Amino acid sequence: MRFSQFGLTTLKEVPADAEIVSHQLMLRAGLIRRLASGLFTWMPLGLRVLRKVEAVVREEMDRAGALELLMPAVQPAELWQESERWDKYGPLLLRMTDRHNRDYCFGPTHEEVITDVARRELRSYKQLPVNFYQIQTKFRDEIRPRFGVMRSREFIMKDAYSFDLDQAGLEESYARMHTAYIAIFERLGLKFRVVDADSGEIGGSRSQEFHVLADSGEDAIAYSDEDNYASNIETASTSSEGINTPAATAQMEKVATPGVRTIKALCDFLNITASDTLKTLIVEGADGPVALVLRGDHDLNAIKAQKLPGVSSPLTMASPESIVKATGCGPGFVGPVGLDIPIIYDHATLGMGDFVCGGNEKDTHYTGVNFGRDVELAESVDIRNVVAGDTTPGGKGSLCITRGIEVGHIFQLGTQYSEAMEATVQNPDGKNQVMSMGCYGIGITRIVGAAIEQNHDDAGIIWPAPLAPFDVVLVPINMRRSDAVKEAAEALYTELREKGFEVLLDDRNVRPGVQFADAELIGIPHRLVISERGLAAGELEYRHRNDSESRDLKREEALELL
Ligand code: ATP
Ligand code: MG
Repeated sequence: MRFSQFGLTTLKEVPADAEIVSHQLMLRAGLIRRLASGLFTWMPLGLRVLRKVEAVVREEMDRAGALELLMPAVQPAELWQESERWDKYGPLLLRMTDRHNRDYCFGPTHEEVITDVARRELRSYKQLPVNFYQIQTKFRDEIRPRFGVMRSREFIMKDAYSFDLDQAGLEESYARMHTAYIAIFERLGLKFRVVDADSGEIGGSRSQEFHVLADSGEDAIAYSDEDNYASNIETASTSSEGINTPAATAQMEKVATPGVRTIKALCDFLNITASDTLKTLIVEGADGPVALVLRGDHDLNAIKAQKLPGVSSPLTMASPESIVKATGCGPGFVGPVGLDIPIIYDHATLGMGDFVCGGNEKDTHYTGVNFGRDVELAESVDIRNVVAGDTTPGGKGSLCITRGIEVGHIFQLGTQYSEAMEATVQNPDGKNQVMSMGCYGIGITRIVGAAIEQNHDDAGIIWPAPLAPFDVVLVPINMRRSDAVKEAAEALYTELREKGFEVLLDDRNVRPGVQFADAELIGIPHRLVISERGLAAGELEYRHRNDSESRDLKREEALELL
């Protein structure tokens, strides 16, 4: 490809609306252009990268025995009503009406459509297992589209759906996808981790996410320093092992804390640390408000809390009025001492002694509070986000926290959709049996952003070789003025392409400084500079995008190295 004819404009300035480096670099290098909020055009350079991701995914899916098909992006409401997701999915679902006043949505995912395909096509257990996949555009009306293609509204997903006769079959299909996903992310040259995950809106039991590790990742991941345990922070758990309630050393006292409503204000006021305090959150429950009690420096985990019996799902904070009604005081002063509503304690609170908590009276707290004496020692549960240093659920080793970008997600759905939509086959006994389903997604467009987030420096993108839009960039110096340089560059361009390389020839009439800056920004792995001085010595200047220095190589040596 000749740079002069590639319709590519790179940008020197960092675009103001791009918060993270991958978004900035994708705009600056001309990979994408924004059309509207969460909608992007993939420019020719970006599309080359996207196609490489797709190709690897497609090859590994095919290798794993999955069958490619292509379903409509627009889906009829009736199917979503059958699965009962038309009402449940909420504002993420882009709904529309056709000229006959029929309801449709733009598919955010395809469980309903594929289940409809399966119930029509599959008759007998002899046709199982089967795994259908597609690479296709989805739309989710994200509340806050951001980070460019990493959280856009329109994006491309590879979604696969497996059908098996029973749970044992599903587990095999799931394991095959697990293996295929590892092969995909390894081939793409990305550093990643597989973690346990919450099944969320899609439902089902077992689910795991694949995360590209990057500091800017939206997800926090907890993993053990001793065993294989790794989980999204949403579901990461810790045990109560080793937590002992200390003996009281202080007397309980009621202290005036005028206007002190937050943990931070309380710490400043009493000159203590957050871990000396207990915080009490009032949430809605099936039979009225419920108190959730945590150590002051810990964060409530909504996903865990809303799974508790007696707690409303989705988790709903009680209104100030209902807090006053239930506790006799306003938010900020609630505590477990003498509180007459159900109280749920997090494990870590039981390790606390002589602590500070709300006084259940306006502008008051208690200090020197202890379990067993002032507050009944109750059972504890796991309702908070784990933090670094927590013991692993298995009790071996401690948890470390890192950040990741979710690029893949695999689920064992079981019979949730097949039962609701009556997707059955005849089993060996001649009876109808509801099929067991799995679903497996990969964010094709998100991977491009995630790869950059993980691989860049101050000068620009550093593509892992399998994703690079070109293998080699040729930088002839003053080609328009030097016939020798022009001839050498053209000859090399032809030869390299004949050898099967994807080559970008920077034939623009611009200063060498601009050529070098763009080559680094775009991040092509191999760069060859062709100059009059070099040609006189029979040499080309070679530099890999990862190298800090360039080196002179004979033409043959350079070709050999490539
Ligand atoms: P997230 O938690 O990031 O919102 P999700 O868990 O809702 O994603 P899934 O339903 O698991 O997403 O979809 C499968 C894959 O599609 C995700 O792993 C992710 O890589 C990709 N994906 C989901 N939402 C988006 C989005 N808004 N923009 C780009 N890619 C996305
Ligand atoms: Mg997911």
